[in-house]
Amino acid sequence: MATRDALGRPLSNLRLSVTDRCNLRCAYCMPEESYRWLPRDALLSFEELSTLVDAFVALGVRRVRLTGGEPLLREGLPALVQALARKPLEDLSLTTNGVLLPALAGELKQAGLQRLTVSLDTLRAERFERLTRRKQLGAVLEGLHAARRVGFTELKLDTVVMRGVNDDELDELLRFARELGAELRFIEYMDVGGATRWSPAQVVPVRELLERLGPARPLPGRGSAPAQRYARDDGQIFGIIGATTQPFCAACDRARVTADGTFFSCLYATHGVDLRPTLRAGGDVTAQLDETWRSRRARGAEERLALRDARGPLANAQQLRDAPHLEMHTRGG
Ligand code: SAM
Ligand code: SF4
Repeated sequence: MATRDALGRPLSNLRLSVTDRCNLRCAYCMPEESYRWLPRDALLSFEELSTLVDAFVALGVRRVRLTGGEPLLREGLPALVQALARKPLEDLSLTTNGVLLPALAGELKQAGLQRLTVSLDTLRAERFERLTRRKQLGAVLEGLHAARRVGFTELKLDTVVMRGVNDDELDELLRFARELGAELRFIEYMDVGGATRWSPAQVVPVRELLERLGPARPLPGRGSAPAQRYARDDGQIFGIIGATTQPFCAACDRARVTADGTFFSCLYATHGVDLRPTLRAGGDVTAQLDETWRSRRARGAEERLALRDARGPLANAQQLRDAPHLEMHTRGG
């Protein structure tokens, strides 16, 4: 029986970051010139991560997603996947920008990773370079094909839609996803830490996305999933994550832990619980996690929405340097 928070939401999902480093610089996540990184010796070891997952499992977590920064930058990642694959989980997945997939897709599959989500915001090389400040579209596309080849059948693509940046590519991206046999999810541009250049004008809301995409019927059975899925008349299924204009806090069953072991019970939370001292001392963090989750009342995205016209970036560059745990690339998305 899963631990429930103060609003009755179970603890079922864990997003576990394995590094804050990244090999891209996406405009909506890492637009600054320089960053304050977590100290290397603060990163949890694979053993500590494995112990941590055991504690979450004891409290009801059945789905774990590895993230970053860019998780494939973490040295030896397949060994961690292999250790986690032995735990009683219903789902073990990973979110990646795909750049290192050509080299790692096979090993990850062999290690027992069940599902992959690859972030892909554009199919145009020049635009990719402008958006990420790196020339890596070719590697990502190669990585996607490698993932298919080694047997990742449940492949998802995540696209952050920004008005005036990539919102003219919706149909092309859907066509690409269909040909690849992947399910695409459009994500509203969010005013999270890291998004220091966020403005409401750049958000393409769910309502408008649906109008632009043409006839599609919502599919039932969303549960606590962030994406609402739709079926087009031609049968293609896609999703929309309306975290900015249609938050799903009421069903949020997700815990987040940064690579240095800080536990956040909301993407927008300003304070986290430092689990590292206990983990490093070989202690059991179950009670600490249980207590934190039971007192959870977070409804961060709904509070952001309630700001209406006063809504702007969550933090500026200086605030992020002072508190790097606020960064999206530290929190893992
Ligand atoms: N580096 C990996 C990747 O890009 O998939 C994993 C970490 S990344 C922080 C996780 C997800 O957060 C990505 O799909 C990314 O597009 C999303 N993300 C980052 N900043 C965002 C923002 N401001 N609004 C919406 N999604 C964002
Ligand atoms: Fe882009 Fe992911 Fe890196 Fe952020 S962490 S800059 S979203 S690739």
